[in-house]
Amino acid sequence: MYKFAGFILVVMWSCIVGLARPSNDGKMPKMSWVNTNLVRNPFGPEPVKLMVPVVPSNAPAAPVEEWQPPATPKHVPVRPVTTWVSLDTWAAEHGVGKPHLLSNTPVTTYTIGSARGVVVLAIGNREATWNGIEIHLGFGPQIIDGEICVYGLDLQKNLEPLLCDPPLAFSETNPVIVIDPGHGGANVGTHSILDGRFEKEFTLDWAKRLAPLLEAEGWRVFLTRTSDTYVTNAVRVTFAEQHHADLFISLHFNSGAPDEAPEGIETYCVTPTGMPSTLTRGYSDPWAANYPNNTFDAQNLQLALQLHAAVLRASGEEDRGVCRARFMDVLHGQQCPAVLIEGGYLSNPREARRIENAEFRQKLAQAVADAMRLKPETENQKPETGGQKAEVGDQKPEIFMLESGTNRVKWP
Ligand SMILES: [Zn+2]
Repeated sequence: MYKFAGFILVVMWSCIVGLARPSNDGKMPKMSWVNTNLVRNPFGPEPVKLMVPVVPSNAPAAPVEEWQPPATPKHVPVRPVTTWVSLDTWAAEHGVGKPHLLSNTPVTTYTIGSARGVVVLAIGNREATWNGIEIHLGFGPQIIDGEICVYGLDLQKNLEPLLCDPPLAFSETNPVIVIDPGHGGANVGTHSILDGRFEKEFTLDWAKRLAPLLEAEGWRVFLTRTSDTYVTNAVRVTFAEQHHADLFISLHFNSGAPDEAPEGIETYCVTPTGMPSTLTRGYSDPWAANYPNNTFDAQNLQLALQLHAAVLRASGEEDRGVCRARFMDVLHGQQCPAVLIEGGYLSNPREARRIENAEFRQKLAQAVADAMRLKPETENQKPETGGQKAEVGDQKPEIFMLESGTNRVKWP
């Protein structure tokens, strides 16, 4: 009897250990596995034990020791598990071009590219670029044993969707898109520095201009509000679910401290589990949080970049990047790729003047519709080629072309 119970326990333990081991998918480099309890849910009583892959290394794991908590570690009580993977090894295993040194000053930067585009990474810096557009990594890349190493989650959640995965596509006819005009009713949002007009008015107008453009593209479009009414974030989430949304886009305008006078376009998606957010705005940032929308991490990033690039291009405004955040609960529960875009600063007089102009809002609507194009481009819509050149690599420079007016990279 006891012997049998013991056997059952051994089988159960094997299952638990098996489940705790992250999927390898045959994509990651050969690694040893160690059991660690460094990952802790800041809001849970028990530390979460994970099996964590470790890159073979002869040197002591310098970045682990050098990692310092942020200056105000409000809700980040423990340091993360740092899993560093050689970028050369990862590139070889994923059929991606070898990384090339781009520059040694003012910071050491590398490029890595595929037919899909080019990522520029800076050592020790969370900011990176994708085809010239600012993206934010969870952790700054490191040099370990003379090799460029990128944190494993950044490879999975940032580099893979951009360099390896097929671009976002919709196979079914008339997919559903839910457009969410931010705020409404008593929730006025921010206000224009020029005359106090509220954000809720401009987001609704943007959405109403956008809806027919998307319909003409073949989308079935639903707006979370069509008048000046108060809608909770929870209702916005269930609305998208009830309408079987294939995509969710929340439209907002930004505000900042008047003395800083910030400007530009920002696009947000939910932070992948295990990573710090780009921005917390004073809210908690539980790295261990795993939201329903985290299922779509890869598509979220692709959607965010597609949208962000189109709006940047149309507006000509400053690129503030595609950012990750956890405080936007209108995104957490979404059961489809979901992003939130801030189409400029109402606190900035120059941008507020543009946002208050109906023509500019039409331009923003057209930009979003262009990014969500379902039909193939016709000949005269195709972008011109040629334009900006960039040199990649120091020893044997390679040239890539940025097609003018687009963010597409053309390899010679
Ligand atoms: Zn807003």
